[in-house]
Amino acid sequence: MTGVHPQHPDDHARLPASPTGRTPQWLLDELTGTPEPSPPPRGPRRRGRWVVPLAVAAVVAGGVLADPPVWPWTGTPVAAEPPVPAAPERPTDRPTPSGATTPLGRPPSPPAAAGTHAYAALQEDGVTPVAYDPCREIRYVLRPDGAPPGTEGMVHEAVARIGEATGLRFVHEGATDEPLGGERAPFQPDRYGDRWAPVLIGWATEAEDPTLAGDVVGAAGSTAVSLGEGPRVYVTGTVTLDGGQAPELLGRPGGAAALRSVVLHELGHLVGLAHVDDDRELMYPEARPAVPDLADGDRTGLSALGRGPCVPDL
Ligand SMILES: [Zn+2]
Repeated sequence: MTGVHPQHPDDHARLPASPTGRTPQWLLDELTGTPEPSPPPRGPRRRGRWVVPLAVAAVVAGGVLADPPVWPWTGTPVAAEPPVPAAPERPTDRPTPSGATTPLGRPPSPPAAAGTHAYAALQEDGVTPVAYDPCREIRYVLRPDGAPPGTEGMVHEAVARIGEATGLRFVHEGATDEPLGGERAPFQPDRYGDRWAPVLIGWATEAEDPTLAGDVVGAAGSTAVSLGEGPRVYVTGTVTLDGGQAPELLGRPGGAAALRSVVLHELGHLVGLAHVDDDRELMYPEARPAVPDLADGDRTGLSALGRGPCVPDL
């Protein structure tokens, strides 16, 4: 299979269109919030699943080589040039493998109180979460178009927070004009060169990205690939934030903390967390002022997501 067709992120964060006079309830997601603890590991792609198996078939170049001829009157085989093996065909749907086998960071120990967490996708054993490869940097680019003033630092802080909680090494690569929305190829050599495309974080309006319609203020997800029967590993992802609603949110009391919690929540999805129905966790599908930061269950899940396998052949 040569094509990789990532699904558009559809994990949403929602906010009410206008503040109520009561305690603000930042609704995060129209989804039920019911985690999927045991998704079928390799079934057909489903909405909400961020796994795109990349079946890598070995390419065997060349054909059957004939034995060298024997001259009949000498009885001595003529020395033949050894066949030159044809160069294996370079797959066009993935970059040169990383070859990296040493984790770049160390995830913190999970907190004593485990809390509640759930993963977006599991390996075939039904237990181990699909995660990013800890042996390579997770590069990310920011799309500045439509970013509310003063939010770039907030995004970097949130990325750093997720980096601390996972031990994964995030590296900011700069700005991009890559459009948001729609399907995104995980390998874009023309734009990003011979590597997996970096994580794309950006702001869009409802008009630009229908995913953000209504109360939705964010969407995030990652694309996982596997090599044959090997473990699935996330190679890139997207975080889309609603640049149309953010200014209004920032104008509310506590709005900056709320927006930061939305960004953190979406980054939690990016690295592999799913919703939980425990409202003490940040991955609860409703943002609450009482939970502005990662809680025990979130941190437990993120610690595990920093311990995924290294896949040097991808
Ligand atoms: Zn969510």
